[in-house]
Amino acid sequence: MAEYNPQAIEAKWQKRWAEARVFETEVDPAKPKYYALEMLPYPSGMLHMGHMRNYTIGDVVARVKRMRGFNVLHPMGWDAFGLPAENAAIKNNMHPRTWTNNNIAEFQRALRRFGFSYDWRREISTCEPEYYRWNQWFFLRMLERGLAYRKKSRVNWCPQCCTVLANEQVVNGYCWRHEDTQVESREIEQWFLKTTQYAEQLLDDLKELEGGWPERVITMQRNWIGKSIGARVKFAVAEVAGVEPIEVFTTRIDTVYGASAIILAPAHPLAQRLIAGSPQQKDAEAKLARMRQSSMKTEDLAIAEKEGFFTGRYATNPFNGEKLAIWVGNFVVMEYGTGAIMAVPAHDQRDFEFCRKYDLPIRVVVQPLDAEPLIPEKMTAAFDEHQRGKLVNSGPYSGLSVDEAILEMSAHAQAKGFGRRETIFRLKDWGISRQRYWGTPIPVVYCAKDGIVPVPDKVVLPENAKLTGEGGSPLAATPEFVNTTCPKCGGPARRETDTMDTFVDSSWYFYRYCDPHDDKAPFDSAKVAYWFPIDQYIGGITHAILHLLYSRFWCKVMRDIGLVKHKEPITRLFTQGMVQKGGVAMSKSRGNVVGAMEMADKYGADTGRLYTLFAAPPEKDLEWSEESIEGAWRFINRVFRLVDRHAPSVRDAKHWDFSPQGLSEKERELVRVTYQTLRRVTHDFESRWHFNSAIALIMELTNEIHAAEPLEAGVRPEIRKEILEMLVLMLAPMTPHLAEELWEMLGHADGLWKAEWPIFAEAQKELARVEEVEVVVQVNGRVRAKLTVPAGMSEADLVPKALAIPAVAQHINGKRVVKQIVVPDKLVNLVVA
Ligand SMILES: [Zn+2]
Ligand SMILES: [Zn+2]
Repeated sequence: MAEYNPQAIEAKWQKRWAEARVFETEVDPAKPKYYALEMLPYPSGMLHMGHMRNYTIGDVVARVKRMRGFNVLHPMGWDAFGLPAENAAIKNNMHPRTWTNNNIAEFQRALRRFGFSYDWRREISTCEPEYYRWNQWFFLRMLERGLAYRKKSRVNWCPQCCTVLANEQVVNGYCWRHEDTQVESREIEQWFLKTTQYAEQLLDDLKELEGGWPERVITMQRNWIGKSIGARVKFAVAEVAGVEPIEVFTTRIDTVYGASAIILAPAHPLAQRLIAGSPQQKDAEAKLARMRQSSMKTEDLAIAEKEGFFTGRYATNPFNGEKLAIWVGNFVVMEYGTGAIMAVPAHDQRDFEFCRKYDLPIRVVVQPLDAEPLIPEKMTAAFDEHQRGKLVNSGPYSGLSVDEAILEMSAHAQAKGFGRRETIFRLKDWGISRQRYWGTPIPVVYCAKDGIVPVPDKVVLPENAKLTGEGGSPLAATPEFVNTTCPKCGGPARRETDTMDTFVDSSWYFYRYCDPHDDKAPFDSAKVAYWFPIDQYIGGITHAILHLLYSRFWCKVMRDIGLVKHKEPITRLFTQGMVQKGGVAMSKSRGNVVGAMEMADKYGADTGRLYTLFAAPPEKDLEWSEESIEGAWRFINRVFRLVDRHAPSVRDAKHWDFSPQGLSEKERELVRVTYQTLRRVTHDFESRWHFNSAIALIMELTNEIHAAEPLEAGVRPEIRKEILEMLVLMLAPMTPHLAEELWEMLGHADGLWKAEWPIFAEAQKELARVEEVEVVVQVNGRVRAKLTVPAGMSEADLVPKALAIPAVAQHINGKRVVKQIVVPDKLVNLVVA
């Protein structure tokens, strides 16, 4: 009797897989391809079981597809640039490269220890010049096309990170890395990528992702892009000399005659100027300062108490010359539209609430066609269903439908020069400049003669920059780097010292896996054409906007450059649940982490893999439980002992021919439950990804086999072998080392990696079929119907079925059943009186 020894078994098979190059793949047009990918990790700290769940799910998918005959690309790499490495390096007085590479080595050790089926030849690390030079190459292509540009602008600045943040990295006014650090607004020059040029496509192509992406991710992207069709209207400010008009964006220009105020966002650049010198100056300034401080969280805007104050100034409605009070309101934000709105309380709910509170006039300018006319004093909510309305009290536009009025009034504003039709997006261009060291240098120089000049060769990050963490770009303080010659005129020039946002690195890394060592181009388009799009991408919901939106943008740019032909890089996206311990997500800072290596050392990788798959469906959160790990461990041991006991007597058995003839009752039952399990497990792997229920089915099958012991009594060796082989093959994607070992024990000299997923052929289908019988249904001894049911159905199940038959019900006809006579598999006789 052998003992299950995971350490020895797992090392043995990992070595064999490596020697046989099992997971190395190349383009093969003769085979269908499958690209399975988990989001590349940021190598910091240690890999814990929360991470491993993600990779285990991806590995099961890759292994199932491989067994089903696909040519599977399943690579791994490192998102190696970034602030945490730079900060940790400063703290530990170490070079970021050393810190990062140490972490990569640790991560690699853990991923290899778990036996994930990666093609390690394709490993990439984004901090290596062989990789990031292509970031620079892409940047220059975008520069040539006007998709990369430099401008002075207000930026989000995190005082903790000492760098600029993209809008996507500001979470409700706070830094995405520093939950307690409020983001400041600073004005500096920086580089942008024109994501807004693709706003319409990014929105439209979301349609292509339906069915393949989680609905909520699509919704989050749609909202982030935030398209609104409307008009921009200028309201001149009365009585203040030299102030430019206030521009308002509205989707309902048709309601302009119903405006009762102009409301500015607290951050609106005009707010301060309007207040200065007004009768309310002192009071208003205090209120403004308070409002600016309490930067409202976006999701709170809709429900928060609306606050505001009058600036003491007025603007003129360009349509009718009416004076409108200018207010500042906490529910108006600079990030959307122009940061100023016209308040139309009768036809917008937020305006209604605000104007009611501050007693501003409510004017109805759209009356419903199919209801009593609205009376302002009696309204309890705004009337904003524009499809049902007709304009009133709107000068020459009265009588028009809303849609007609929008067209005519926009045209009028345009003709008179105080407005125009406009489609706006919430999406902003992507600011990529970072004043930090550990990132891709932006490949341009500044020349006194030629201005901004691109650097065609790769710009390598100098290793000797001084990192202090005290703000300012470390590269700017490295004269050997800064001072250079202009590639155009040969004169002296100064290098750009900002580095790129690391989201640039992850926007296209999955293309590089297709051709990781190409030194002529970012990748060979033919290879990418074979492997793309990604069939299954797996990662956390936290990347629903940032990474996935940038990746989609990058894909569209690459298509326009002519590098790829597809519209979208990712066909299917799966967002797995978190692993929790003690009710909160595993994280180093919370100290509730179970390390991957710790797990592997104690139980082995297969138990760790099986447990994370079994404890919850993959999309749900998983609560870590030591008890359940013990359960997984015991199950694996049980399977091992089962195969070990029977292997000697079946290993030389011939292959069973699936013939149903001559099956004993015991054989028939075991074969049936085996193939039924295979059918259901196959279904779980193929469609639902309910690995947990697949494992439960395999456990049940194991129980059935145990219950039939001793198998030697009444089950022929070839059938015993068939049953055990099915069990092992079904376990192979989840516990691959164990399965290989058992496969070998069952007499296969070739690795299981060469075996195919068992096909559920006609022969097996027939054997899996539950036998059916015909049961005669009588009422008072006369045959009234026949029932076809699975053999062995109990009396308790049979009688209700019989009663439900219309022909039977008709003959009972409301009478009472006084007696029922049931002969299982044959007869139901109902006696009524
Ligand atoms: Zn920060
Ligand atoms: Zn020059």
